[in-house]
Amino acid sequence: MSKVDFRSLANNSVRNLTPYQPGKPIEELERELGITSSIKLASNENPLGPSPKVIQAATQALQKAHFYPDGGCYELKQALSRFLSVLPEQITVGNGSENVLELIVKAYLHKDDTAVISQFAFLTIPILIQSYGTRAKVVPAREWGHDIPSMIQSIDEKTRVLFLVNPNNPTGTYTNKMDFIRLMESVPPHVLVVVDEAYSEYITNPDYPNTLEFLPRYPNLVITRTFSKVYGLAALRLGYSISSVEIADILNRTRLPFNVNTIAAKAACAALDDQSHVQNSVEINQQGMQQLEEGLRQLNLKYIPSIGNFITVDVSNGMSVYQKLLLEGVIVRPLKAYDMPRHIRVTIGTRQQNDRFLKAVNKVLHARDNTVTA
Ligand SMILES: *Cc1c(COP(=O)(O)O)cnc(C)c1O
Repeated sequence: MSKVDFRSLANNSVRNLTPYQPGKPIEELERELGITSSIKLASNENPLGPSPKVIQAATQALQKAHFYPDGGCYELKQALSRFLSVLPEQITVGNGSENVLELIVKAYLHKDDTAVISQFAFLTIPILIQSYGTRAKVVPAREWGHDIPSMIQSIDEKTRVLFLVNPNNPTGTYTNKMDFIRLMESVPPHVLVVVDEAYSEYITNPDYPNTLEFLPRYPNLVITRTFSKVYGLAALRLGYSISSVEIADILNRTRLPFNVNTIAAKAACAALDDQSHVQNSVEINQQGMQQLEEGLRQLNLKYIPSIGNFITVDVSNGMSVYQKLLLEGVIVRPLKAYDMPRHIRVTIGTRQQNDRFLKAVNKVLHARDNTVTA
């Protein structure tokens, strides 16, 4: 019997994918090195963890684990609707916001269409676009950020979706309100503008656009948000989009009925209810950002100014510094996959974690001269 080549049977677009590389799990590092008490500053998770109220709600929800979830996510949509002042019918829930991004790609991008994204944009998005066989038009970044005029320019007759990651991961750069309005005014009305706002709850800059208030004016606007970052629920996988009722209706048709589980939905309701935990997380992040910026300046390391819960630092050789930091029990993110080989991305941690990172990076960089000959 001849051997079947299942690789060649796969869709072209899927066969050529480079999979997304997530941050290294703590358990994996400790298993590999036989060490303990390492820290992970690699996936922009909330260092405070979830609110105690969330843990209580999720634990209680486990008692009903034998029932299928409410596919319509009634309670969570009601809670989000009140919290955001939008209609429940404008909301689409997903297994993480990446799932919602996938619903958008699946529903609105055909094979011959193009989607416009920025260079250095969150890699999940171009991977999704490619996996559905659509072409991404990647617009060169300007000072690491989205170049809005060029993105507008690059829209062609085949463009159906434009992705704006705001702030962008991994660069921490953002599109201000003026540029956002300029974009919305210039984009043809049939082109969807999808704004990925995974970090919006962290942001206090007055010129960061409050996109929600623009929804009535721009029916082609879709906003995605997540419970993975400031709410500290990354493991539970829950994200959502807010859009016109019409677009939400389409996205909800492409959604699998149980893409959000009961534990996550209950936890998210409790998380929304505990805004003091959010507030506390935002403050810790602002203090930590200041601490890291000061520390990096003292080490003479250049960084890209960031408004998120992470900062991207030029360490000359990102992969080598990443590997040496692992030996110190500090997990950060190398950015080779983003074509940023000089940089590492560091999540803002607690004061102690930030301190440990700064000491470790100092040690690793100064040990460099010794290890060359070793
Ligand atoms: C972390 C992140 C997400 C969140 O993904 P989830 O699937 O909701 O965990 C989405 N977009 C960006 C830019 C991110 O950094």
